[in-house]
Order: sequence, then C-alpha cells, then structure tokens
Amino acid sequence: MKKHLLTSLLAVAVFGSTATMADDHSNDIAIAIHGGAGTITKANLTEQQEQAYRDKLNEALQAGYDLLDRGASSTDAVIAAIQVMEASPLFNSGIGAVYTWDGEHELDASLMEGQNGNAGAVAGVKTVKSPIELAREVMEQSVHVMLSGEGAAQFAQQQGLEMVDNSYFNTDRRYQQLLRAKQQIKQSEQPEQQAWEYLDLDYKYGTVGAVAVDKDGLLSAGTSTGGMTAKRYGRIGDSPIIGAGTWADNESCAVSATGHGEYFIRYHVAADICSRVKYKGLSVAEAGDEVIHGVLEQAGGTGGVIIIDAEGNVAMPFNTEGMYRGYIKGDGSREISIYNDKN
Ligand code: ASP
Repeated sequence: MKKHLLTSLLAVAVFGSTATMADDHSNDIAIAIHGGAGTITKANLTEQQEQAYRDKLNEALQAGYDLLDRGASSTDAVIAAIQVMEASPLFNSGIGAVYTWDGEHELDASLMEGQNGNAGAVAGVKTVKSPIELAREVMEQSVHVMLSGEGAAQFAQQQGLEMVDNSYFNTDRRYQQLLRAKQQIKQSEQPEQQAWEYLDLDYKYGTVGAVAVDKDGLLSAGTSTGGMTAKRYGRIGDSPIIGAGTWADNESCAVSATGHGEYFIRYHVAADICSRVKYKGLSVAEAGDEVIHGVLEQAGGTGGVIIIDAEGNVAMPFNTEGMYRGYIKGDGSREISIYNDKN
C-alpha cells in the first residue's frame, strides 16, 4: 500500500473523522470518472465489449468510492480510480495507451488539489508504470509542477516508483489503430498535420480521469493518457496541462477532460468551466454546457469533461457521440453511461 494512502487511513482509524459537526460533509462524498470520449455508439460496440467497459468503470468508481467512504482524501480516491483504468487495456492510459508515430508510448498525467492549488504533472514518460502516481510524487515531493521525458523518469526512479519497459503498455488493438492511422495520413492528399486533424476520433481519444470530493469537502482532479495515436515530435496534449485538461479549486469545482487536446489547451477548458462557476455563479451543469456545447463546439473542438463541486453535484457534458463515464454519490445514487442518451 502506498504511504499516502496508509497515512490517511491510519489517521481515520486513530482519530476517527477529522470533520467537526459544523463542517460534516460525510453525506456529500462523491466521485465521478471518465474513460474517454469519441465515436462511441451502440453500433460500434458488441454487447460483450460494452459489458467489459461497464464492469471496469464500475470497478474504478467503486475503488475510489470505498476509500472516500472510509474517510480517505479525494486525492487518494482519484488516484485509486485512475489506477484501475491505467491497468486495464480498455483505455488509452497505462496498458492500452495509444502508439506514437514511432511505435512507442509516451504517457501524460496530471493531478490537482482544490484546497491549496497544489498540482503535479508529467509529460512524455515512457517507463513509469503508473503516470498518475508519478504526478502525485511531483506534486508532493518536488518543488516543481511539471516534469517531462527522461528527467521525469529519473525522478520516478529516485522516488522508488515501479518502472517498466515501454512494451509493458503494448496492445494489439492499439497497434492496429496506429497502422490504420498512418495509412490514412499517408494516403491523404492534405499535408500531414491537416490529415492528422481529420483522423477518426477513435484513434485519438480514450483518456481516463477522475474527480472527487471527500468528507472534508475537499476537491481533487486527475487525468492520465497516452495522448493521440500517431502523435509525433514530442507532441503533448491537454491532459498534463493544469487548467486545460485538469483543474481543481475548492471555491468552484474540479474537472478532468478528454478530447482533442489542442482545443482544450487553447480554450483552457477545465479552468474556464470552474471560473464560470466561481465568477458567474453558475451550477456545474450550466458551466459545463456553456463551455463544451458553446465555446468548444464553436471552435470546432470535440470531447467532454467530468465536473464535481464541494456539495457533490456532478455534471458530465460531452459533444461527441459517446463518453465512458459514471459517478457514485454519498446519497446512494450512481450512474454508469456510455452513449448519448444516458445509457
Ligand atoms: N485529450 C487527450 C490528448 O489530447 C486525448 C484524449 O482525451 O483521449 O492527448
């Protein structure tokens, strides 16, 4: 068990809940997750595939929620949920990450806490088993917010994180996607970068993320991804960019995004949603709709987000055909959905 988790569980065991009667938020604990957005339709998934996704989303949600329920922090819950998905070949993070143009995996992840603006991020890591765990180490054990490439790997090793060969992330399904994507780009009459823009959404998305509120009303958000299929030149998307793919602020909300990263960076989507909650007084649902169906859509960007606030309100807007998503709340409500119509 990781030392952070152990510490928070011990604290709960010894001191009981740290919340006083006045700020007892134990009924407001909640967690939401996503496993990527894209052209996800009933026609594109067999019944078996659909069930596999639902089961894994359920497992990830439950892993995070059980921790919240036992009094652990929202950060512990977010990491636990993300690690279930990083370990599953179904999603574009950890095992099952997409391939770069050169046939490797370059992973990005980030984490933010809403209480104090603490954040950690990593980009282009190739040999760290759990990129989200490394993002936490950067946040807690370094004086920096973002580390990349070789340096990030060196730091991971120093921190004693588990290292793996890059082939650990290999899956045949993603490799076939790479071959198809490269063929499509090479056959295109457009210049390479433009052709890449028009690749099928499924070649690009599948990032995972989680947002949570704990018994003390503290928010946390995290995101982990392999980026986009056939990416080149050290391309980095929105997922490790604080404010674009991940954001948390206790006075407004916590957000994790999935979609066409270039747009999420340019429109600093995650932070913009929370700013609308904070300064316009919008609900998380209203703010999410304004940005995902307004700003992002008008700009031509595709994708979605999960959003949570300190009261445990959850919104999960997206402008693609589907997004793997779900939540569990302290009041007993839960949802796992894939398609557009809440199914
Ligand atoms: N947002 C990710 C990126 O651009 C891709 C995804 O969400 O699947 O790297």
